Amino acid sequence: IWDDILEYVRDKIPEVEFRTWFKQVRPLGIENGVFMIGVPHSFARDWLKNHYSPVLEHALKDLGAASPRVGFQVVSFPTTEQPDIFQPQTTGDDSSQVKRPRLNPKYVFSNFVVGPNNNLASAAALAVAEAPGRAYNPLFIYGDAGLGKTHLMHAVGHAVAERLPQLYIEYVTTEAFTNDLINAIREDRMTAFRDRYRSVDVLLVDDVQFIAGKERTQEEFFHTFNALYESGKQIILSSDRPPKDIPTLENRLRSRFEWGLITDIQAPELETRIAILKMNAEYRGVKIPPDVIDYIARQVTSNIRELEGALVRVILYASMNQVELNRQTVAAALSDVYAPSELNLSMEEILRATAFHFEADAEDLRSKGRRHELVVPRQVAMYLMRELTSHSYPEIGQFFSGRDHSTVVYAVQKVGEQLAKDRELEMRIQAIKSDLL
Ligand code: ADP
Ligand code: MG
Repeated sequence: IWDDILEYVRDKIPEVEFRTWFKQVRPLGIENGVFMIGVPHSFARDWLKNHYSPVLEHALKDLGAASPRVGFQVVSFPTTEQPDIFQPQTTGDDSSQVKRPRLNPKYVFSNFVVGPNNNLASAAALAVAEAPGRAYNPLFIYGDAGLGKTHLMHAVGHAVAERLPQLYIEYVTTEAFTNDLINAIREDRMTAFRDRYRSVDVLLVDDVQFIAGKERTQEEFFHTFNALYESGKQIILSSDRPPKDIPTLENRLRSRFEWGLITDIQAPELETRIAILKMNAEYRGVKIPPDVIDYIARQVTSNIRELEGALVRVILYASMNQVELNRQTVAAALSDVYAPSELNLSMEEILRATAFHFEADAEDLRSKGRRHELVVPRQVAMYLMRELTSHSYPEIGQFFSGRDHSTVVYAVQKVGEQLAKDRELEMRIQAIKSDLL
């Protein structure tokens, strides 16, 4: 949570201020609904309180706290400095030219959940990390925003830096590359610019779709690319689309982007989303009940950044309001961001729609009756209630004439499995949903 707050704040205030004031503060926990922050001395306390309370409270609010309040307290810190994750790591003093790239410490392979949506991309990234310049060159990873492209690139950077520390790894966004170039031109430093980029061993260029329409950048990047490629240096590119769909990309660049391996990342399926949430909760040192994880994973489907955002929101909501995490509180925590509570579907409505589509009688479905032809529609109704409402298993069981919650658990699981292989069932469920939504 604290890292998320810092990231938010860092985005909102000048970097220098951030470095000055936020390097030395630590989260202390929540006391009576106030988020307490430890500061090294009373001057810092007063300064932070006067200048940064609003932005900190905004951060908390953004992360899901209902009535965000922050407080400051002077505490004495152990003398060991925390590693500064915001600084590009330099080896030796600043005068030395050998720089470690600015990589997010969280974006390593061990924190990357591999699923069917990304297994080719992650295998390719691993191969490249094993043998930079020799496996796939360039490696081109594309996919929608928030699906892990930057994470994978950084992971390669970390892995190479660890195994081959003598290599010079450079990570740039296409924007940064463009700005660098513009500055170099303006300040008449083109030689230095070229030297810098052409001495790289592993070049990671993020969001290369932004090169569209920038002729001078394309020109310069073309030469950088050639110089690196010819000397067997590794290039990894990411983009939100494949090279052929980047508009106004010069043909010679496009074809170079296609020389190596092009691989994509898709939106993660439910199991992968669950695994990512579990890993994230663990990473943050928080215990989250499985049904809460499940709920979040079902709400946020197409963007991993948002998935993590939802998790943070839920954690913060629970601790700020001092409530236990369960299906009700998670629904409340996410209610203003995600749709289902807006739908406000009742179990009654779902039952009726399901009965209609299976040409069954709603009351029969609800009853204790065990007739064979009622089984599937009943299970489907349970499944949909679970998916489209925030009712718990026991509540759904109760609704079906007081059935045990394990019956509902079984039904949901059964339908979920069946869905994957039964095209007809899938279409039926789609049809019911489109009636309801
Ligand atoms: P992109 O660059 O594609 O927009 P990012 O690499 O920034 O996406 O990923 C967004 C967030 O999702 C990051 O916090 C990242 O750590 C996380 N993430 C993405 N894919 C995975 C994954 N497979 N396992 C764990 N976390 C992931
Ligand atoms: Mg990215």
